Amino acid sequence: MEQLNYQTVVIGGGAAGLTAATVWGRRCGKGQVLLLEKQSKIGRKLLATGNGRCNISHQAVSPEHYHGDRHLIKSVLSRWSVDDLTAFFQRLGVWLRSDDEGRLYPYTNQAVTIRDALWRECERQGVQERLSCSIVGIRRTGGQFVVATDDRTIRCGTLVIACGSKAAPSLGADDSGYQLLKQLGIGHTQLFPSLCPVTTAEKYRSLKGVRAKGKAVLLRDGKPLQETAGEIQFTDHGLSGICIFELSRAVNEYFACGTMAGQSCQTVQIALDLLPDHSFQEVYAFLENSRRLFTKETADRLLSGILPQPLAEVLAQRCRSKNKTCASLTARDLKQLVSEAKHLLFTPEKAGDFAAAQVCAGGVDSRFVDPATLMSRSIKNLFLCGEVLDVDGDCGGYNLHFAVGSAFLTACLSDNRT
Ligand SMILES: Cc1cc2nc3c(=O)[nH]c(=O)nc-3n(C[C@H](O)[C@H](O)[C@H](O)COP(=O)(O)OP(=O)(O)OC[C@H]3O[C@@H](n4cnc5c(N)ncnc54)[C@H](O)[C@@H]3O)c2cc1C
Repeated sequence: MEQLNYQTVVIGGGAAGLTAATVWGRRCGKGQVLLLEKQSKIGRKLLATGNGRCNISHQAVSPEHYHGDRHLIKSVLSRWSVDDLTAFFQRLGVWLRSDDEGRLYPYTNQAVTIRDALWRECERQGVQERLSCSIVGIRRTGGQFVVATDDRTIRCGTLVIACGSKAAPSLGADDSGYQLLKQLGIGHTQLFPSLCPVTTAEKYRSLKGVRAKGKAVLLRDGKPLQETAGEIQFTDHGLSGICIFELSRAVNEYFACGTMAGQSCQTVQIALDLLPDHSFQEVYAFLENSRRLFTKETADRLLSGILPQPLAEVLAQRCRSKNKTCASLTARDLKQLVSEAKHLLFTPEKAGDFAAAQVCAGGVDSRFVDPATLMSRSIKNLFLCGEVLDVDGDCGGYNLHFAVGSAFLTACLSDNRT
C-alpha cells in the first residue's frame, strides 16, 4: 500500500475544509497540504446554499444568533468579524454585497463564485486534493497522525477535521466525521436537526403550498419563548418557511432532549398571528363591516379578502362557521374568527428530519476542544472546524460565517505550528 507524507491533512472539502486548506496551504508551503473529500465533487452543500446564491454572512453577526458551545461561539466571533470575512474574500478576488436585511452574498449572486474562489486559492497555495476518498481509519502514533484510506496510508503532523454534519444527506452529508473522531476518543453532544420544517398534529391538506406573511410564536408550556416574523408556508404535514425554520431548533431540542432552550418542559405549541399588523379590535371591526356587506355569502368570504382563500376556509371550518351565512354570524362567531386568525395554534408532533434540515444542532463536545485554539484538548495538532463543532446559527448566513471563520482561525490561533 502506498505511503504518503504531508505536513497537514484536511478532511472534508466543504466551506470549512476548503477555507482551512487555503490557510494551512499558505502556512505550510506548496505540496505540503492534502485535502481529502469523500464525494466526487468539492463543496456540494456550499453550492446549494442560499438557493444557489450562497448567503455567506450577515451584517448582524453576533453571539445571539448562535446556539451551542458559548465559549467557542464567542472565541471565534471575537476574532472573525464580517469585515474579516469580507476582506478574506476580497483577497480571493470576490466582492460581497448585502441585501436590505443585511444578508451577505457574493456580488455575482452565485454560490459557485465562492466555491471556485476557495478552490483556486487552494491551487495557488499548492494544496493537493483527493476526491471520492474513503477514510477507513485514523490513528495517532509517534506524534503523527496516520490516515488510512482504501488504497493508501497518509502520515501528517497536523490534522484538520472539517467533515460537517448529518444535515442534508442528499448533498452527501452523513455521520462519518463523528465516527472518525470517535476513533480518536472524541465524542459529541446530542445531535438534532435545525432549520427545517415542523410536522404538526394539525394537518390541513388544502393548505399545502399556501404562503402567508405572519408572526409565529413558540410556546413552552403555554408561555411565549421565541417569536419570529416573515413568510409562513403551509405543508400537508405542518409548517415551513424561514420563520418556522427559526423555531425548529427549539422544537427539535424538545423532542431530542425533553428541554427547550435548556429548560425542561411538558408541552410545545406554535401560535400563528396571520394578521400581525392589525389589532384584534381592528380585525373585528373589519369583519363586522364585511358581514353587513356580504350577508348571503358564507363565513369564509369575510376573511378571503385579507387571507388566502384556503386559509379563510380552514379558519371558518375551525370556528364551525364554514356553512353559516355572514348574516347569521353572531358577535361570538366573529370574535372566534378573529382569534383563529390571530392565534392559530399548531402542536408539533415529532422531531424534524435531517433530510430536510439545513443544519445540525449539537456537535463535538466542548470538553474535547479548546475554544481559544480550536485544537483538541487531548490531541495536539488535531483541529476541528465548521459544523462538526457544537455550534449552529440562525438562518441568514450565520452558519457559513462560522464555518469559514472557524476554519480560517485553525491556522492562526495555535502556537503549535508544524
Ligand atoms: C440547502 C441548504 C442551504 C443552506 N443555506 C445556507 C446559507 O445560505 N447560509 C448559511 O450560512 N448556511 C447555509 N446552510 C448551512 C451551511 O451550508 C453549513 O452550515 C456549512 O456548509 C457547513 O460547512 P462545513 O464545511 O462545516 O460542512 P459541509 O459544507 O457539509 O462540508 C463537509 C464536507 O466534508 C465531507 N466529508 C464528510 N465526512 C467525510 C469523510 N469521512 N471523509 C472525507 N470527506 C468527508 C463532505 O462530503 C462535505 O463535502 C445551508 C444548508 C443547506 C443544506
